[in-house]
Amino acid sequence: MEWWVSMPKVELHAHLNGSIRDSTLLELTKALGEKGVINFSQVEHIIMKYNRSVKEVFQLFDLIRILTTDHAILTRITREVIEDFASENVVYLELRTTPKRNDAIGMTKGSYFEAVLEGLRSVTSVDVNFIPHDKEDSRTLFSPNNGSSRKRIYVRLLLSIDRRETTEAAMETVKLALEMKQFGVVGIDLSGNPLVGDWNTYLPALKFARNQGLYVSLHCGEIPNPKEIHQMLDFKPERIGHAICFEKEHWEILKSSKIPVEICLTSNIRTLTVRSIQVHHFVGLYKTKHPVVLCTDDSGVFSTCLSKEYKIAADAFGLGKRESFELSRNAVELIFAERQVKEDLTKYFDSVAKTMG
Ligand code: 5GP
Repeated sequence: MEWWVSMPKVELHAHLNGSIRDSTLLELTKALGEKGVINFSQVEHIIMKYNRSVKEVFQLFDLIRILTTDHAILTRITREVIEDFASENVVYLELRTTPKRNDAIGMTKGSYFEAVLEGLRSVTSVDVNFIPHDKEDSRTLFSPNNGSSRKRIYVRLLLSIDRRETTEAAMETVKLALEMKQFGVVGIDLSGNPLVGDWNTYLPALKFARNQGLYVSLHCGEIPNPKEIHQMLDFKPERIGHAICFEKEHWEILKSSKIPVEICLTSNIRTLTVRSIQVHHFVGLYKTKHPVVLCTDDSGVFSTCLSKEYKIAADAFGLGKRESFELSRNAVELIFAERQVKEDLTKYFDSVAKTMG
C-alpha cells in the first residue's frame, strides 16, 4: 500500500459530505442522539452497513444531511477532508458539495458556501492553495525552491445541483458559483438520487453555467435510463461521473466525443451497480486510452481513500507502479483549474517521474 500512498494523486470526484471521517460521523450522530434530534439506535445500522443498494446509500445521505447542515460542522468537515486527502499525497483535489438552505438555522446557500470556505482557510497542518492565480501570477505550490517540507495541495470547488432541486434552485447554485469563482469555484456538478428528477429541470441552469465559463461534470448512467444518458452526452459535459448503465450507442457517443470519465471503483461495487471489479468498465476504457481518472466518490461512506482505489485497480487489472503513476499523471490534463495549476502539477509529476528511474 505504501507505494500507492506515496505516489502523487489527483482527486476529481469527491463529495464533501460523503468524505466525512467515520469517527466524525459517529461522533455527530451520537451528539444529535443525545440531544434527541435523532434516535441513535435506529440509525446506527444505516451507518454501519457495509454494502448498500443505491436506495440505501441515499437514505444514508439524507441522514448525513441532517447531521452536517450546520455552519460550524461544515467548516470542520471541510478542514478534515482536506487534511485527509493531503495526508495521502493528493496534490490536487476538486471537492464538490451541494449548497443547502436551512431556514431553521438561518442557513442560505451563500452562508453554506462561506462555512466551507472557512474550512479551507482553517487548514493549518498542510499548505493549501485555493485562491486562483491572477493571469500574471507565477507563484506555484510545487516549485523546487518553495522551501516547504509540508504536504501541499491545490483545492478547487464544484458546486453541486441536487436532482431534487427545481430549475430556480439550480440556477441559484450556478449564480453562487459565479460569484465565488474568485474563491476557487471552477464548475458545476449534477448529482443526488438518480431515481428522482428530470434532465430538463436542470438543463437551463447547466446551459447558463456553461455560457458563463463554468465547467460541468454530470453523474451519468448510474441507473438504466437510456434517454437521459443520451441527453447528457448530447450536452457534452467536460467530464462525467460513473458511466455504468451504458448501452452500445452510449459507448459509441462517449468514445467519439472523448468525454473523460471519473471512475469510482469501490463506490460502484459497494452500491452493487457493478457486479464485480473484474467486469468493471474501467478496464475497457483504460485499454482503449479513453481519458479516465480514478476517484473516491465518498471516501467516508465507502471507507476508502484514493491510494486504495489505485491499489484496487493495480491488483485487479495488473497495473504496475509505472502504469499507476502514468494514470495518475494523466489526470492532470482533466482538471478544471487554471493554466498555472496545470503547469505546476505537470512539472511536479515530471520531477517525481525522474526519481522513479
Ligand atoms: P454534499 O453535496 O452534501 O457535500 O455531498 C453528499 C451528496 O452528494 C449526497 O447527498 C448526494 O446528493 C451526492 N452524492 C454523493 N455520492 C453520490 C453518488 O454516488 N451518486 C450521486 N448521484 N450523488 C452522490
